Amino acid sequence: MRPTTPTVLTIAGSDPYGGAGIQADLKTIHALGGYGFSALTAVTAQNSQGVQQVEALAAETLHHQLQALFEDVQIDAVKIGMLANAELIDVVATTLQRHPTSAVVLDTVLVSSSGHPLLAADAVSILVEKLFPLADVITPNLPELNHLLDRAPETPADDLVEIEKALCEMGVQAAVLKGGHSGETDAAADILIQPTRGVKSEPKRFSSPRVSTTHTHGTGCVFSSAIATELAQGRTLEEAVGNAKRYLTAWLSQSEALYFHYHDSSTAK
Ligand code: PLP
Repeated sequence: MRPTTPTVLTIAGSDPYGGAGIQADLKTIHALGGYGFSALTAVTAQNSQGVQQVEALAAETLHHQLQALFEDVQIDAVKIGMLANAELIDVVATTLQRHPTSAVVLDTVLVSSSGHPLLAADAVSILVEKLFPLADVITPNLPELNHLLDRAPETPADDLVEIEKALCEMGVQAAVLKGGHSGETDAAADILIQPTRGVKSEPKRFSSPRVSTTHTHGTGCVFSSAIATELAQGRTLEEAVGNAKRYLTAWLSQSEALYFHYHDSSTAK
């Protein structure tokens, strides 16, 4: 008998600080009622100050992790995060072609918010070519969207028709354009567009009051893992994005308190 707990595989990098990467993904999947499997792409050294070092794993090492899982367990959704380089992208694309999964969420991780590259510059076009058509939804933030569309970094995501057309040409089925980096001060609005659905699919806006905090490390990882876990539970994409956004807003609201808790020396044993 199939267990009722939905399973989510995260393919991502390790963040020892636990706010982003595979650690954040597994916590999110668990919090939302899923069972998390993981395959590691890279080991980073980082903390609240930023990323100090990145070591990508060998393509063969990722291949063996994925093979071990896909040969053995049922996977209801896949979340893809940091991929580091073209060789690792290739392994993920080949695996997903061999083992089609009902829900694939691709977080387009390019550079950390502290400025450290998490994907080699020459691998961005490979990500587009090999993984965009295999993903059910991609989740770029504004700087990532502008990089992918070859536009100036600060360009607002206003021209949805143009964006939709450009993403469609890249094989994107659906995208959540994240508004966290927009200039809006009161609200944080994410926009779901579904280019391949054509004119019938109007962009859907998900807005919430902006949480005032500088502790946003890992936001993209938590959001994309939450979407994957919701999809694994059989929700529609619109429901999944709405529920993931509600979870993320609650998560961000307590991020400041958590930060002070684990940086406060008086709590150390
Ligand atoms: N480290 C890892 C392993 C990540 O996967 C990511 C984002 O996906 C980051 C760091 C960057 O986190 P942030 O830019 O939110 O600080």
